[in-house]
Parts: sequence; C-alpha cells; structure tokens
Amino acid sequence: MMTSVPSAPAHAKPLSAPQKALQKLGLVRAIDLALHLPLRYEDETRIARLSEVREGEVAQIEALVTACEVKLGGSRQLLVTVDDGSDTCTMRFFSFYPSHQKALAVGNRIRARGEIRGGFMGLQMMHPTFKPAGGLLAQALTPVYPTSATLPQAYLRRAVQSALARADLTDTVPLAFLNEIGLLPQWNMGRVLAFLHQPTPDVALATLEDHSHPAWQRLKAEELLAQQISQLQAKRARDRLRAPLLRALPKPGRQPLPEQLLAALPFALTAAQRRVGEEIARDLARAAPMHRLLQGDVGSGKTVVAALAAAICMEAGWQCALMAPTEILAEQHFAKLVGWLAPLGITTAWLTGSQKTQARREMLGLIASGEAKLVVGTHAVIQDKVQFKNLALAIIDEQHRFGVAQRLALRNKLTAQAETESEPHLSPLEPHLLMMTATPIPRTLAMSYYADLEVSTIDELPPGRTPIITKVVNDARRDEVIERIRHQLKEGRQIYWVCPLIEESEALDLTNATETHAQLSAALPGVMVGLLHSRMPVAEKKAVMALFTSGAMGVLVSTTVIEVGVDVPNASLMVIEHAERFGLSQLHQLRGRVGRGAAASACVLLYSTGDAPRLGETARARLKAMAETNDGFEIARRDLEIRGPGEFLGARQSGAALLRFADLTLDAELLDWARDAAPRLLDQHPALAEKHVQRWLGSKSEYLKA
Ligand code: ADP
Ligand code: MG
Repeated sequence: MMTSVPSAPAHAKPLSAPQKALQKLGLVRAIDLALHLPLRYEDETRIARLSEVREGEVAQIEALVTACEVKLGGSRQLLVTVDDGSDTCTMRFFSFYPSHQKALAVGNRIRARGEIRGGFMGLQMMHPTFKPAGGLLAQALTPVYPTSATLPQAYLRRAVQSALARADLTDTVPLAFLNEIGLLPQWNMGRVLAFLHQPTPDVALATLEDHSHPAWQRLKAEELLAQQISQLQAKRARDRLRAPLLRALPKPGRQPLPEQLLAALPFALTAAQRRVGEEIARDLARAAPMHRLLQGDVGSGKTVVAALAAAICMEAGWQCALMAPTEILAEQHFAKLVGWLAPLGITTAWLTGSQKTQARREMLGLIASGEAKLVVGTHAVIQDKVQFKNLALAIIDEQHRFGVAQRLALRNKLTAQAETESEPHLSPLEPHLLMMTATPIPRTLAMSYYADLEVSTIDELPPGRTPIITKVVNDARRDEVIERIRHQLKEGRQIYWVCPLIEESEALDLTNATETHAQLSAALPGVMVGLLHSRMPVAEKKAVMALFTSGAMGVLVSTTVIEVGVDVPNASLMVIEHAERFGLSQLHQLRGRVGRGAAASACVLLYSTGDAPRLGETARARLKAMAETNDGFEIARRDLEIRGPGEFLGARQSGAALLRFADLTLDAELLDWARDAAPRLLDQHPALAEKHVQRWLGSKSEYLKA
C-alpha cells in the first residue's frame, strides 16, 4: 500500500514486504544496516562427525539418507534417517511438504544443520535445515540478526552485506580518544564492523555473544559517546535560547510573593527543600530556559517547592502552569495551592478534560487575560485551545507517568506558546520547565539518563514523621488484619486498602476490589467504606475522594488509582492486597500514601501464593526489600538489582531509548569515558562529533527532547 509509506513520491515503485520490514525496524540508511549487529552466530565453517557431536550442540553434518517415511497416527511427521559413516541420526519434521520428501529421498546425500538431541532412539535432530551435500563451506561464522516475521534472515544478511560495502565507515573518534579506553584503537570502524558481522571461526563465541569481546566493547563505547554528545548538544542548544528572567525586583512596602508564601506556611521548609528551592531560583533568574528534574521520595514535600517556584514566577509578573497525570492528583494540587495562594491575592485557574464547557470557557478567559496567574490541571493544560497571556514556567508533577510522546507534545506546545508572545524582532522566548518525580534514581544514573537535564534531589523527609512499619502477612491471616483496622478506626484513623484489579480475571484469579469492598463493609458495621477504581466516572471518583479527605469515610478500598501523590495525612494504615503482584517502586509509591502525619503508620503487604507452596523468588525479594527499608533511594537500588537495568526505567525513558547495545548501568566504565570524552570531542572536533551523532542516532535525536 503506497499510503503506508508517507515519504515515497507518487511515481516511486511500491516497497516490497521485506523493504517495508526493514523500514519498520529503522534500517533505512546504509549505516543503519551496518550497525544492525548479530544476535548470535552459526558455525557453518565445518562439517561435524556424528560420532563426535555432543547432545545440545548445534552441528552441521553431511550424510546419506537411508530411510524416509511419513509416520501416521498420533502426530503426523516425516522421519528421515541419515548415516555419515560414523553414526546415524533421525531427523523429525512435524510440518513438511512433498518437496521435503523429494529432497530427502533415500540415496540422497544432504548437508543438514540443527540441534543434536540424544535419547532412547539414538541421535535426533528436530526440524534441521538442509540442502544437498557438497558446496563451499562458509569461511566465517554466519550472523543471525534480530529480525521480524516478514523479513527473512537471508534477505537481511544480503542487505547488511551490501550496506557494509556502501556505508561511509570512516572513523569519527580520533585515535587519541580511542587510546584512552584501549579497545582495539588500531582497528578502524570498518574493521570492527566487518569482524562483528562475520567473525573468523577461531574466535571464542561466548565473548561475542555476551558482548565482552573488545570489538563489542568498542562499539558500545562509541554508542555511549554518541548518546552523551547528543544530549550535550541538546543542552547547549537550549542554553542558547532565551527565557523570561524570573527575578523579583524589590517593591517598597510590599514583601515579595515567595516570602509571603513561606511566612504563611504552617511549617518551615526542610534544609533539603530550601536547597533545591535555591537551585531552582538560580535557574529561573537566568536568561536560558531551565530544564530541571526535581526528584524526591514520596512525602518529601515536592509540592511546596513547586509552589515556591510558581511564586517566584508570578512575582516577576508571569504565568505558571502545573500539570499532573491524573485528575485526582491535579485536584489535590489545586486545593492545596489555592489554600496557600488565594489569601495572597492570587487567582488560580483549573483545567481538566471532564470540565463542563461553560466552566472551561470561563477558565480559558481567565488564562488568556492573564488574570489567572497560575493554572493547575491535567493534560488539558497543554491543549491547543489554551492560550496563555505570558507563560514562563511549566511544572510537571510525576513526570515519569507521562510518556515520551506526551512530553514531546508538551515541549513543542510550550515553545509554540512562547513564540506567539515574543516581540517579532527577537528570538522566541522559551518557558522554564520543572519536572518532578518520586521515582528517585541514583545520581550518576540520573545524570546519564538525563544528561540534558539538571537534577535536584530532596534527600530528607519533613521532621516529625514516624517511620512506617511494614509487615508482610499471608492472606490466610486476613481476619487479623481486619481486626487491626477496627482498632485503628477506634483511634480516629483512616485506612487505605489497595487491590490490584477491578474485575475478576479468571486467568489471574485476583480478589477484586468490589468483593473486598463488600467484605469490609460487612465486617465493619457503622463505618463508611468507600470504593474507588479507575473505571468510575470522574465525578464519582471525586465525590469518594472528598469523603475520604474530609475524614467522614473510614476505609477507602481502591485499585491503584490512588498511587500517585494523594495526600491525606490522617490515613495511617495501608493494606495492599496481592502485594506479590506489584512492582517494587509501585509498592513504595503506594506505601508513601501513609505516614504523612505525625501518627505512627503501618503498611500491611498481604500476599497469596495461590496454588504454589511459596512465593516466587523475585516476589519474595521485593516484599523483603519493602519490609527492610523505607528509603526511596535504597528501594530504587534494590529494584535495579532485582529487575535488572533494562527494565528498571523502561526503554521509554529519555536517553536510554537511544541505546541499542550499551547499558547505562552495566557499562559504567565505558559510560564514564563517554561522559568525559563527549565535551572534548564536541569542542575539539565539532565536525567529527556531529558526524558521529548522525551515524549512531540519525533521525532518532527528536526523542532526546522528550
Ligand atoms: P511529595 O513529595 O510526595 O509530593 P507532598 O508535597 O505531597 O510530598 O508533601 C507531603 C506532605 O508533607 C504534605 O502534607 C505537605 O504539606 C507536608 N510537608 C511538606 N513540606 C513540609 C515541611 N517542611 N514540614 C512539614 N510538613 C511538610
Ligand atoms: Mg507529589
């Protein structure tokens, strides 16, 4: 279909299925193919003797067909016996055509390749590949490439071969740089790639397959270098842009807004909050747009830091927008910020998807006129219809909950927004961006993942919190847990009970929230037990949340919709049902909903082993980590250990999406070199640096901005 290839001119020949498949894999330029490296290799350089092969080994043999018959009954299969003079072997084919039978007729000599199995019947091969015996043997190992269903391995091999001959493989990293890491510095890129695509048979295959071979290390180092340069370029490009100067000019007789806010707060900032507040204030006072990630454990008090940043912005006469991933969270922010700022004379607008047309129109008016200095809401904040008068600061809460595409849309939207405001003779103004996340990651990792961001970390909780005690309890002891709830309710406390799914799923057999809700309602007469799940209409969700926040509702049964940011300090007990099904960071986020006030808080992780005698190893490791520590950074470290780095942040996270081979945590040493070399290459050899980035990242670099 021509329409699926938007860039093809009308007269161009339609692409074949494999060509389309190549395009889909991002293999467009010759260099993309040259950098598409084998997953593993097959050794077709020699013929093995059946008497010498080992079970489990993939072997290539040449032998005479001595029997070929179709076995009927049970599962129909083609059974072929071959003899190479040293031993015999039975080949089984479960799907076959008459052409198979013809090629495998008795008396034919064939060359076959497959995994050897032993057993009762002697040596066997399941579905070996085969062709007539004789013919040249391969001189090098045969590469096996990652591919897709519509792209045959043989086609891809030819495409890579021809690309290797066509692509510009001249070196982009000068020898002096390569010497610093000592990974085959004398080899040029062409040689490294030729070797990795078709290594000589004498190489230790294991070192290629686990990527520990110096040629692989070299490639990973170059890839990391490209990623680091690219992020550095993005950062420098941003530094050249102009942003509004958010610096308060002293006005006689009136305290600046940030100070008024601090004076009105019912608490003093922690040292960590003050420090990150100053880091942000410094950025805002610069003429280049801020791109800062504020990370802090759940409950560390990021919201007030956001409010402070907003106050600085508004004091300077500009508008600020705060966006949250869910309506419930946005509403909590709205309530909290209005509570703090309305007494100081600030009008805050509110925007969400579920808003009535009339209410929305009013809000849009307030925003366009500039009467609303602060806008709080969900994604609705970045929709096309929203016209700010002079937006200078955008704050995104729980930014990890937004996908790359959404974050890209946001940045593009904000740029466009600023352009309409700027005076025509000047370059457009970019707003400052503050992103907040409660999924803290270790600092060095953060700097590599987000090499184009500044990172601020709140590493301290507000005082007076008693640590949350976490207990891991078998679901068989559910009654004791309900007893504990009764006790807490008598003390005037509130309880969250979290369930993983809303409907009974036969496959997973999870207790659903509705059932638990019914059970708790029956067990706790006279107590208001609420239910909250993601499929409820927004208005209903809000009503339930309001009852819980006001304290009227004692127990809130919910699915994970309460996961992010919800703040009800009187809630002191959290029960998580089927805790074994949650990821570690999700458990930690959930647990962070309690322990927000001064009362001693607890978290009960109810687990069920189903039919198994005990929990699986990773589930056990997760629950153990939860019971042992409350520290978000430590949790992140353990999560990394349990899940492995690839899954930890998800490929969609920023810079990591740019990496095919290297891994930011496993290849720490190479990364150190790349981080150090990137600015030097960019400054000393800008043309090479640019070429290097193009080679590795090509069209992907858009993603960097997200
Ligand atoms: P998070 O970082 O998870 O978004 P919040 O901003 O919701 O945390 O803050 C958690 C709770 O701590 C809120 O009730 C907030 O008002 C309170 N809080 C924030 N900073 C302080 C502080 N310095 N002293 C006491 N309480 C604070
Ligand atoms: Mg928060």
